[in-house]
Amino acid sequence: MIHLFNTLSRKKEPLEAITPGHIGLYTCGPTVYNYVHIGNLRTYVFEDILVRALKAKGYQVNHVMNITDVGHITGDADLGEDKMEKGSKREGKSAWDIARMYTQAFEQNMIDLNILEPNTWCKATDHIPEQIAMVQTLMDKGFTYETSDALYFDTTKIDDYGKLANLQNQQLQAGARVEMGEKKNPHDFALWKWSKEGENRQMEWDAFGRKGFPGWHIECSAMAVKYLGEHFDIHCGGIDHIPVHHTNEIAQTEAATGIKPWVNFWLHGEFLLIDSEKMAKSGENFITLQTLKEKNIDPLAYRFFLLQTHYRKQLNFSFEALEAAAAGYKKLKRMVREIPEHTARDPRIHEEFMKAVKDDLNMPEALAVLFMGLKDNLVDLETIIEFDKILGLRLHDIEKVDISDDVQSLLDRRQKARDEKNWELADLLREEIQSLGYVLEDTSDGQKVERE
Ligand code: AMP
Ligand code: ZN
Repeated sequence: MIHLFNTLSRKKEPLEAITPGHIGLYTCGPTVYNYVHIGNLRTYVFEDILVRALKAKGYQVNHVMNITDVGHITGDADLGEDKMEKGSKREGKSAWDIARMYTQAFEQNMIDLNILEPNTWCKATDHIPEQIAMVQTLMDKGFTYETSDALYFDTTKIDDYGKLANLQNQQLQAGARVEMGEKKNPHDFALWKWSKEGENRQMEWDAFGRKGFPGWHIECSAMAVKYLGEHFDIHCGGIDHIPVHHTNEIAQTEAATGIKPWVNFWLHGEFLLIDSEKMAKSGENFITLQTLKEKNIDPLAYRFFLLQTHYRKQLNFSFEALEAAAAGYKKLKRMVREIPEHTARDPRIHEEFMKAVKDDLNMPEALAVLFMGLKDNLVDLETIIEFDKILGLRLHDIEKVDISDDVQSLLDRRQKARDEKNWELADLLREEIQSLGYVLEDTSDGQKVERE
């Protein structure tokens, strides 16, 4: 059985699916007012490992990811600007164009990092009626109040507000720091914001008798309930989502449906740091996957870099550390290519690898097992292909390369030698091809070469 660290209980717990064999999973997607940075991508890679591990354990996973294209205010206190409208002003494009452009860029990042596509992508702006309906339910049940800037959720109306973040222990300190505006209580949050007079918003809707737009948290509640129901298995994000976004999602959803718990497991990935500070979209220390590609760094080498650290540990980024990981990744691929033919698999390696995966997705340990198995000739290609379904490192993919006539003629001679079972000559020809700067692999489809 797979064990996962549940932020709700602060313990590793065995995962028991609500419906046997099926897992409903919601992961908070990006706010598309800018490129995502490689820190955001750390969170999406951790979630991808989760999906792949669940699939490897035989679960059918229904994975839903949202795209926040409206309503995310700069700052958690609900009093800042809307990030999409801000991005639109910055770039002189419409908010809709900004959302489209950065959503596409994000999707390309997912492809480059070999992240499996969710079963459902859902955009906040495509689900406005669902959000309005949930706010209406909360109004009807008496959980809301109105101020001059928004409809707010009254957090004192529920008795377990903040259970995810253990807020009750920090209530007073947190209260002292929160900008109150007209809010009644420090943790109250906006469900639906009113458009300001003369603000000229591009994204606004008629609801509750005037023009307005959704608060950030309501989109995830409304869409997760729509696609996964009033009780589902796992919800994920980065650790910054614990005290505000996910805390508020839980409060409003459980208040609206009356069903507790809404979600059984809450999983959170730690930050990617740079110079010991959190990489942030608003900060100076912002590195995109595109920047890595421009430096000729393979995105999968970045994925390998991430897998070397457990998702619940902070990870410091530096180009030196990434280059060391890229060398490690190359070495791993080379070891896979050089697995001797007829290697017998040792079932203990498979067992140890899966033990690490099932122990709260311990990828550093799983990689160590893999390296050890390769070093001692205990894994065959089939095992690698199976492990790679979880690692997603394309360990066995060989890129097609243009080869010169000379190399092609060596390959033809080697094929002939192999057909004639002249292994000695085949080995000599392999060495000759490799001395010309190619690596060669024998696959079930014949010989494959790529540049060293
Ligand atoms: P956002 O677009 O700001 O909502 O962030 C998208 C995802 O990236 C969320 O799950 C965040 O928790 C996560 N995230 C933000 N900054 C970092 C970071 N430096 N390292 C890892 N994950 C992050
Ligand atoms: Zn969310």
